[in-house]
Amino acid sequence: MSSASETRTPRPTAFTPRDPQTLHPETRLVHAGTTRSPFGETSEALFLTQGFVYDSAAACEARFKGEDPGFVYSRYANPTTAMFEERMALIEGAEVARATASGMAAVNAALLCQVKAGDHVLAARALFGSSRWILEELLPRFGVDVTLVDGSDLGAWEQAIRPNTRVCLLESPTNPTLDIIDIAAVAKIAHSVGACLVVDNVFATPLLQHPLALGADVVVYSTTKHVDGQGRCLGGMVLCSRQFLDDHLQVFLRQTGPSISPFNAWVMLKGLETLALRVDRMQASAARLADVLAGAKGVAKVLYPFRADHPQAALARRQMSGGGTLITLVVDGGKEGAFRFMDALRVIRISNNLGDAKSLITHPATTTHQRFTPEARAEMGISDGLLRLSVGLEHPDDLEADLAQALAAI
Ligand SMILES: *Cc1c(COP(=O)(O)O)cnc(C)c1O
Repeated sequence: MSSASETRTPRPTAFTPRDPQTLHPETRLVHAGTTRSPFGETSEALFLTQGFVYDSAAACEARFKGEDPGFVYSRYANPTTAMFEERMALIEGAEVARATASGMAAVNAALLCQVKAGDHVLAARALFGSSRWILEELLPRFGVDVTLVDGSDLGAWEQAIRPNTRVCLLESPTNPTLDIIDIAAVAKIAHSVGACLVVDNVFATPLLQHPLALGADVVVYSTTKHVDGQGRCLGGMVLCSRQFLDDHLQVFLRQTGPSISPFNAWVMLKGLETLALRVDRMQASAARLADVLAGAKGVAKVLYPFRADHPQAALARRQMSGGGTLITLVVDGGKEGAFRFMDALRVIRISNNLGDAKSLITHPATTTHQRFTPEARAEMGISDGLLRLSVGLEHPDDLEADLAQALAAI
């Protein structure tokens, strides 16, 4: 860089053509939150920098005092990461958003930033495995009591809530059984004792379900999934009110440092531009494949939230605008049948990721949920023949043919 450009203070100015809230989600995904450097670049700039320099000691002092609203250190904030956060906030309809290095860093921060010894946390049992570890192993070490309930049983939530319940946590649809939990009803139960409802919205994506509008207080994502959508980077996001940020989250993130790399934030930003197109296509294929699988020989059961035979189909249609990009199926022949089926697939690949451009299949009993006892798995509805299929961007005819030839192998 020439010395002339070095002397310019890169102070990005927000150019907002219209109030983002008046634009369709697809338009927000492309434009919302973009700030441009004095170069006027088209694509969001990647500020791969730890820190920032100052023209004088006094300018540095002013920045640190908060009198000059610039960036200080990338553990606190970074211009590229800030664009990613702002775009996510404007899609979700949240006041603020903070990015993290992974989805688990987001879940962990959303919980730990607000609990202390003596508090109670109430959660639905069907959670991502690492979230279960935080609840069952980590929080009790610090004197936080945890209760797990069947999330779709509202009576169980009501019975388990306590005056000292500080946080309620749920995922919906759940992994891997695609149960639907009534977010509005659980929010009411949580708020009856002043607890905060945190919703892990990964399976629904920011486009198909809006937990904040249903009464949730905090939404978390693993942006590793649909937001990146191309299997490249890990990332996470916590979305909440400015009050929650000021009271709990900001200081926790700044001091404990689960910051996302600006490079990964940049990849996520570019992923958001195509999120609606990808989710639309993947969801259309998933809905079609669910119907095909439901009638197929060798398939004992198919779970897809928008199919009429889903146990909570009506609730799914009430709180989601689409059935999502995942299908759960149970094949005949238990583990052996499931393995023969997976090994026979030629287009769909065996992997534990989801929301990817590539269709991926997982056998939860031997991977994501292998650490649970068979009894605990049965309680979660995870049988040995159960498979989770994340539908990708391939032509649906090719996916249908791949599934059909693999079913023939069982
Ligand atoms: C993947 C996932 C996580 C964890 O995200 P990472 O980015 O892998 O840390 C948390 N919750 C759900 C529902 C997930 O699918």
